Amino acid sequence: MARTDHCPICDVAVKPENLLRHVNDTHPRHPDTPAIREKLKAEPRRSAPKRTGAPIRVRGWHVAVVALIVLGGAAAYYVAPYLSPGTSEPFPCVVGTNFAYHWHPQLNIFSGGVPFVVPANIGITPGCLEPIHTHDTSGQIHIETTVNRLYTIGDFFLVWRKPFGSPTQMLVNGTATSPSPSVILYDQPETITLYYTSFS
Ligand SMILES: [Zn+2]
Ligand SMILES: [Zn+2]
Repeated sequence: MARTDHCPICDVAVKPENLLRHVNDTHPRHPDTPAIREKLKAEPRRSAPKRTGAPIRVRGWHVAVVALIVLGGAAAYYVAPYLSPGTSEPFPCVVGTNFAYHWHPQLNIFSGGVPFVVPANIGITPGCLEPIHTHDTSGQIHIETTVNRLYTIGDFFLVWRKPFGSPTQMLVNGTATSPSPSVILYDQPETITLYYTSFS
């Protein structure tokens, strides 16, 4: 295939795929133009140059669709707990964000003297946000409740679905306390530290 062509009207060198556009743009009123235009249109190689960008655009579109699906799924995951009313155990799922309060007590657990990592997302499922939950593994408890009531460390263990059990020692703000699941959860800097012989 020829790399260049020549305009039948002005003889300028033009790429074959650009010749039709050249004739249209440069000689729109030339008497030969309509005939040349028809002739060029009939030749398949004159048609628009192969667009190497087309597959990329298609791929970009696919990426956008996939991203939307992923984002939509993520949004549904994070928003669903706020939307779905429910009474899943042990506390009613939080509905809306009109919190009575939003507190962050700190929970530290030691098992045989070794720090035990409190998991992230305790009390958070796609269908339900419990008023007491965790977002990360820092031991920070989040209480986001639309019900104006207090919760206890025992309530957190209920949500966690683990027995409070028998800690060998319990510190509340660094002060030794008789171990009890009835200790109320208050906002930071409240820190509850539980020592177990073995916690799992
Ligand atoms: Zn939260
Ligand atoms: Zn929070």
